[in-house]
Amino acid sequence: MSRQRAVVVPAFVALAALLAASAAAVAADPPSVDAAVDQELPSLVQTYESLHAAPELSGHEEKTSAFLAGELRKLGFTVIDHIGKYEDPDLVGYGIAGVMKNGDGPTVLVRTELDALPVTEATGLPYASHVQALNPDGQTVGVMHACGHDIHMSSFLGTARLLAGMKDRWHGTLVMIGQPAEELGKGADAMLRDGLYDKVPRPDYVLAFHDSSDLAAGTVAYCPGYALANIDSVDITIRGVGGHGALPSHTKDPVVLAAQTVLAIQTIVSREISPLDPAVVTVGSIHGGAKRNVIPDQVVLQLTVRTYKQEVREKVLAALKRIPKGLAIAAGIPEDRMPIVSVSKTERGDATYNDPELTARMAKVWEKAFPKGQVEQIPPEMVSEDVGHFGLDRQIPVLQFRIGAVDPKLIQEHEESGKPLPPLHSSLFAPLPEPTIRAGVKAMSLAVLDLMGK
Ligand SMILES: [Zn+2]
Ligand SMILES: [Zn+2]
Repeated sequence: MSRQRAVVVPAFVALAALLAASAAAVAADPPSVDAAVDQELPSLVQTYESLHAAPELSGHEEKTSAFLAGELRKLGFTVIDHIGKYEDPDLVGYGIAGVMKNGDGPTVLVRTELDALPVTEATGLPYASHVQALNPDGQTVGVMHACGHDIHMSSFLGTARLLAGMKDRWHGTLVMIGQPAEELGKGADAMLRDGLYDKVPRPDYVLAFHDSSDLAAGTVAYCPGYALANIDSVDITIRGVGGHGALPSHTKDPVVLAAQTVLAIQTIVSREISPLDPAVVTVGSIHGGAKRNVIPDQVVLQLTVRTYKQEVREKVLAALKRIPKGLAIAAGIPEDRMPIVSVSKTERGDATYNDPELTARMAKVWEKAFPKGQVEQIPPEMVSEDVGHFGLDRQIPVLQFRIGAVDPKLIQEHEESGKPLPPLHSSLFAPLPEPTIRAGVKAMSLAVLDLMGK
């Protein structure tokens, strides 16, 4: 088109042409998820830094949950707060649920955790936490987001903003859950016990992610099937008959019996469980006695047990009851002083089972949207978390995926010199915020858009 001719085109024709052109551009190229993430990222990183500096312990997530609830309300979500009923009277239910209805379609639940850990931060970052709080024993402890739940919350908020701004691209009901007390393994159950699925529509899918302290920042990783383990907490009280340390024959020594028990229960995993079924039995605490020359009355062992399959879980727990009793009989412990084995009903959690079909579907979505090499399949781990509980015993497909959070420079150093990478829960754990949140928002938003897309 010549310049001269353009000048003589009446203004309304030019305007109409311009509008048509821009409408065509919109139709051909809707605002991309990448562009939307880019736009939100600076404010999300700021949010991350302020959440990081103000962590709250499990069951005390008052300000954190109020902040997230407020942000969801601003976006147009209908928010219910103070969800969660605990058996422990010291914990308050600070769970939140934001619901956005957008026509007919599937219901997708996206979950973030809210809580931090009793860890004194040692990263030296400008936004490091200096928060202190009282733990349940009344001791003053440092508080830190050492598991990256602040990364999850910032990405959760980014996902909420993105999806609220793209309502023309999805239909159905989006349920955004802020779950408290994940670190105690109690928050998901507390929300369900409080009637979560009466308060919000029961989802067709449950999605969550956790940052990873092994993978480079921005990596998206998935593990189909069993991904995270069952956790059981077991206390074994080994009882004896105490007395003078110089007169062992007048006693039944629980210290010796405890030592035998610790060694004997190692055979559960090595001899009783199939080598193809993962299981862990760890004695993390052993306490007995107060003085060199006194044989105590009892020794208490505290164990964590990790398994995947229900039958393996039951077998390990049964062996943990049988072996201490057998050893006590062998040691001649009186019938009324047999060991007491108690399996906690509250400090437990079920394995996270990633629905294989849902996992494969999302892996395809991410492989298309992320650069080559940034999406990978990873093996299962024996750590545990409670997001699977929202799936009501596998009635609802669940996917918990991972987002790498580690500065690639540190990974390189680790590979070259063996310098260890600070793991989750370490006082030195410092995710690289920008690429981690970017990948978190993008992967989660694309997952929801795929499940609810028009
Ligand atoms: Zn954790
Ligand atoms: Zn965590």
